[in-house]
Amino acid sequence: MKKPIIAITSSMDLNPNRLNDNRTMVSLDYSNSVINSGGIPVILPITDNLEVIKEQVKYFDGLILSGGGDPDPNLYGEDCLQEIGDITPERDTFELAILEEFLKTKKPILGICRGLQLMNVFYGGTLHQDIKYVDTNIQHKQKWLADLPTHDINILENNILFEIFGKKARTNSFHHQIIKDLGRELTSIATANDGVIEAIQNKNYPFFYGVQWHPEMMASRGNLGMKKIFDKFIESCKNLEKQKQGGWPLAKNIY
Ligand code: MN
Repeated sequence: MKKPIIAITSSMDLNPNRLNDNRTMVSLDYSNSVINSGGIPVILPITDNLEVIKEQVKYFDGLILSGGGDPDPNLYGEDCLQEIGDITPERDTFELAILEEFLKTKKPILGICRGLQLMNVFYGGTLHQDIKYVDTNIQHKQKWLADLPTHDINILENNILFEIFGKKARTNSFHHQIIKDLGRELTSIATANDGVIEAIQNKNYPFFYGVQWHPEMMASRGNLGMKKIFDKFIESCKNLEKQKQGGWPLAKNIY
């Protein structure tokens, strides 16, 4: 069977050696995780050309919204607060556009860290612009090894995370922003012990998952549980026809 081709979004980083040269950047961990689970990764550059975006979507079997800087708070009606990180409106515009186009196709979508936050903003949700604005003692922005699990998550039933891990897993954590209000259509499927939302799903869509941690850092360094997230994503990309008939995942509105 043909290997699914997976689009991975990227960030726009200024070339430090020049004043006006931006580069497409994304960790190799995403590509390696896709390859290890049987997919073909392709990195997408930022563009505001809708014609190009619409054409791009036809070629891909799945989309990964990758990690990175903060979505512009203007997207959810807030001013930038003092602890906001880097924002790149060009990237927001691109990713919101390709997400909208992808949703029309029913092809699988996986959001990671910033990707989860962007999914939430897309559906009208809001974010805490920094951990400082939330009452918690848990370290959500670890300073240690990329693949070191540092906090637990509690997982609800009827989703791929529950199928893989059961009720609990332990994840790494590299985020300083947190979901505040969930967007319409989205359900929280996993929370940290302080109540922070760590994973979301759109149960009205065949495969639409967002995770707040970085499974690609763990999967690409040999964590077999986290690899299964990519296995299920790639498998789902192979089975689009089956998904259209509601065969995957076995999700019902139970909350
Ligand atoms: Mn966390």
